[in-house]
Amino acid sequence: MIEREPLRRAFRELYGTAPRLFRAPGRVNLIGEHTDYNDGFVLPMAIERETLVAAATRPDRRVRVRSLNTGEDVEFDLEHPGPVRRGSWIDYVEGVAQALIRRGVSLRGADLLIFSNVPAGAGLSSSAALEISTGLALATLAGAEIDPVVLALAGQEAEHTYVGANVGIMDQFVVALGRAGHALLIDCRTLAATPVPLDTAGAAIVICDSNIKHDLASSEYNRRRAECEEGVALLRQFLPGIRALRDVSVADFERHAAALPEVIRRRCLHVVTENARTLAAAAALERGDLAGMGRLMGESHRSLRDDYEVSCAELDLLVEIAGQVGGCLGARMTGGGFGGSTINLVRRDALAEFQATVLREYPRVTNISPFVYVSEAGEGAKEVRDEE
Ligand code: ADP
Ligand code: MG
Repeated sequence: MIEREPLRRAFRELYGTAPRLFRAPGRVNLIGEHTDYNDGFVLPMAIERETLVAAATRPDRRVRVRSLNTGEDVEFDLEHPGPVRRGSWIDYVEGVAQALIRRGVSLRGADLLIFSNVPAGAGLSSSAALEISTGLALATLAGAEIDPVVLALAGQEAEHTYVGANVGIMDQFVVALGRAGHALLIDCRTLAATPVPLDTAGAAIVICDSNIKHDLASSEYNRRRAECEEGVALLRQFLPGIRALRDVSVADFERHAAALPEVIRRRCLHVVTENARTLAAAAALERGDLAGMGRLMGESHRSLRDDYEVSCAELDLLVEIAGQVGGCLGARMTGGGFGGSTINLVRRDALAEFQATVLREYPRVTNISPFVYVSEAGEGAKEVRDEE
């Protein structure tokens, strides 16, 4: 947890008034990868790391923001939207402000000070934490009781319009609505979300950041989306009712898969089976079957590596190293791929051995230091009360 008092103090020194505090967590996806934009299922949880925003209104229509992470100040005017896609973090903050305004939330000018301990670009969605924490701050300061689903949609819209990233709804949704001690099974078509209890008494969620990000990520992401759409168009000849790969059962897929070109077939195979795995994983967690959950994570990784082809040598290595530790129940890449993090389910009694093994073996092969940490399922975005 980030210390609250130093941020309040820094705010007073910078802007001369006392702030209110807001927070939004990062997130990690337990399973359900590349399913969100196929109208499918995802099973993420909010993590304990967070972005903290100190905020106070100002008399005009301007918003000033300083990030203690970058040391930069940005400023924008609520009345006169600035250009989109400036390639700076202002895109996330102004983007969510403008998306809220478009959704009928009237905002007031404000001064903001931000600090985050969610690593940027590690696949833990520091971007959603930034959008949702600042969006919540701006809406609440203006007196609005903001529906967290509307806040999530505004964050996603910021990515689409201002950032230029064609993301699904998962990140913003779980960051806004996550619940402590629970993962969230999200139906990305209907946005129905079911909290799934995550019993971490026996096994911990361990995140291993590969500390690498390959340039391929965004071009391949767009290509995968197009491949999935092509798959749907081809499968529609046999399954006329389908709108997305979400509508295709594993059995239906197997019946018609031979009609698809090889690459499209493997992409669709991943999505169709991943949706089934995600529902099975939620059921496994519900009945406390951590070994079953771990097996599904392993299958998910192999499917992402071999069929969807969004893994990379470093992520595969982290998963392989995890497999050397007896008490590791499951390991997989998490997030879009081509770098970022893996997620691991590790028995508590094997935690020390797991961490030591990853910290020793990964740099031995790659010369890169990984970043390993354990997180409980945390709470979604909220205002921080004075006593917290
Ligand atoms: P991820 O969401 O996986 O961390 P993204 O590339 O989507 O990776 O978002 C990372 C970007 O978000 C950073 O490059 C930066 O522009 C912005 N960002 C996130 N947190 C902060 C912060 N605390 N201060 C300034 N910019 C931030
Ligand atoms: Mg992001």
